[in-house]
Amino acid sequence: MHPFALSRAVDASAAIAAHADDPQLAFIAGGTDLLGLIRDRAALPDRLLDINGLRGMGEIAALPDGGLRIGALARMSDVAADIEVRRRFPVIAEGLLFAASGQLRNMASIGGNIMQRTRCPYFRDGDTLPCNKRQPGSGCPALTGLNRTHAIFGWSESCVATHPSDVAVAFASMDANVIVRGRTGERAVPFTQFHRLPGDSPERDNVLERGDLIVAIEVPGRIEGRASYYLKVRDRQSYEFALVSVAAGVATSARRITSVRLAMGGVAHKPWRLTAAESALLGVSLDNATALRTAIATAFAEARPLSHNTFKVELAQRAVFRALLTAGARA
Ligand SMILES: Cc1cc2nc3c(=O)[nH]c(=O)nc-3n(C[C@H](O)[C@H](O)[C@H](O)COP(=O)(O)OP(=O)(O)OC[C@H]3O[C@@H](n4cnc5c(N)ncnc54)[C@H](O)[C@@H]3O)c2cc1C
Ligand code: SF4
Repeated sequence: MHPFALSRAVDASAAIAAHADDPQLAFIAGGTDLLGLIRDRAALPDRLLDINGLRGMGEIAALPDGGLRIGALARMSDVAADIEVRRRFPVIAEGLLFAASGQLRNMASIGGNIMQRTRCPYFRDGDTLPCNKRQPGSGCPALTGLNRTHAIFGWSESCVATHPSDVAVAFASMDANVIVRGRTGERAVPFTQFHRLPGDSPERDNVLERGDLIVAIEVPGRIEGRASYYLKVRDRQSYEFALVSVAAGVATSARRITSVRLAMGGVAHKPWRLTAAESALLGVSLDNATALRTAIATAFAEARPLSHNTFKVELAQRAVFRALLTAGARA
């Protein structure tokens, strides 16, 4: 195990300054991902700064516009159990409940969850194998190797990994914002722009810079929030990451879709919005299965499966169909 020094932050400004000034320092919240990364030698920080003592970052607040503000240090289990989260955005509560295990959810924070790194086995396999995300320029063995769980959208020759967070998919579907505090103040990053596609620099998962601290996630009030659902398809029913997952929210009039939000997990380096399908589904009746399937298919014209994951293209479309109907039954 890589050795590190541990200290505790009591003041957000000082924590941000320390992180900005020291490239070998990492924030630690629940530690459920970071300690695994250190053990797997995918992260080698010399200093960890425990941010759990920072005040005002653990609350869950229902906003007057029907939205939510979820503090970055709120625990996954607390957010999933919150009555306003469940009432306003079942998709968020379900995205959390289908993730990890009870013990992990009690420990893991929302900020840490959206920052977790890929589960690509080459990335997590110590120093023994090449991996552009761990060691830039060393190559991507998954491109032609074991890539059953990898991306079908937006990948590059440099990296074909997927992002593993479930609740990130729900946040992306509902147009949430990541509230980030840095040295120059606070800013809101649209959730769909927070995670990056790999391009030529897969070592960077998101748009954060040194000294950036996630303080909260804000979800705007949305009519599709109440009739929303998270479907996760995985190799076993619990304690497993998604093969594909879908966050769906819908509003209808006389069973016809008046607005819809769809995002997928397990298919790209970031939560993947199905914007083409969202447009094509407008006006379609939830009772017209053929028209629904045709509209959903529009979002898969740009799918580029790898050697071992062609099955995901069909599986994903079926999952979207099922998630949409389940969300629709809540409308
Ligand atoms: C066996 C196992 C199964 C799992 N299954 C799932 C699953 O099915 N679905 C799923 O979504 N997740 C799953 N997870 C991942 C789990 O949800 C994450 O490990 C957890 O959410 C990370 O939160 P944490 O507070 O422990 O983060 P930490 O491990 O403390 O930190 C993770 C990263 O986030 C950074 N960070 C933390 N807080 C902040 C902040 N406020 N601002 C900026 N950076 C910050 C840290 O520096 C670090 O880089 C699983 C994990 C394990 C170990
Ligand atoms: S897919 Fe990405 S994380 Fe996996 S081996 Fe390739 S570069 Fe590394």
